[in-house]
Amino acid sequence: MTAEKLETYIKQLQRTYEVYCIGFSHAGQPIYVVKVQGRCSKAVVVQAAIHAREHITTSLWVSLLLSLHVKPYVTLWVVLQSNPDGVCLTKTLPLYKANIKGVDLNNNFNAHWGKRGGYQHVPCTQGYIGTCAESEPETQALVRFTKKVQPVLTLSYHAKGEEIYFDFFNGMYYNRDKHIARMFAASLQYRIVPTQNVSSGGYKDWCVQTLHIPSLTIEVGSDQWQHPLSEGYLPQIKRRHKHIFLCLKQAVQFLEGNTHDKRRKMDEARTCRSKKSAKKR
Ligand SMILES: [Zn+2]
Repeated sequence: MTAEKLETYIKQLQRTYEVYCIGFSHAGQPIYVVKVQGRCSKAVVVQAAIHAREHITTSLWVSLLLSLHVKPYVTLWVVLQSNPDGVCLTKTLPLYKANIKGVDLNNNFNAHWGKRGGYQHVPCTQGYIGTCAESEPETQALVRFTKKVQPVLTLSYHAKGEEIYFDFFNGMYYNRDKHIARMFAASLQYRIVPTQNVSSGGYKDWCVQTLHIPSLTIEVGSDQWQHPLSEGYLPQIKRRHKHIFLCLKQAVQFLEGNTHDKRRKMDEARTCRSKKSAKKR
């Protein structure tokens, strides 16, 4: 999706939703977020096209938001294009993934940055981690914004493979996060693939490790399709997303229940302890 086309869609989206700019790319392009006010205040962040050639994910979320006619349960913040300069570059270099400086933004977050193998150490089309963690303005914008809205869940949209990744040193939250991944896998009919020892420095990795929230990477589109996925595949990808807002509601309700359960158990333990100490006295 070109910058001009995105601007046209932003204007359309502004008729229904609030649209903000969370920062600017290296080349000074705005990074937009669309706020979809939900019935509950719990926030979910969706971010798309952090990898330039996966810009079909921007089209997917523009389309999902334009065809949403009821107020969803959760409040959604959709960063339509995390890497606008990279997406522009795909006009001449269709397979390009990085930002305009040749940094792979999804390897640039401060989560075991550069600690896994297989990375590039010079600017290139994909896999270069940058000079330090969060060196890029696009990465910084996402970090700043995510800390500000404090989501209970994040979804990162990529292409391709019809897969979901959720794991990255989830620790005590492993089962909770796996349960959330299973909910989305069932709804989208995608499979869960373990990634713990493969990658680091991704947005999902940072969310899991720093914010201790479930964070999923969702890879849309069949592996049989060629990069970059053509817009012609959009109806098929969208069909898999027909229950996405219901799934988001159920996931957030599960997380709310989880928190209530934990709080109830802590309250019970506290009451129990105070009863015991009252007896001693
Ligand atoms: Zn990707």
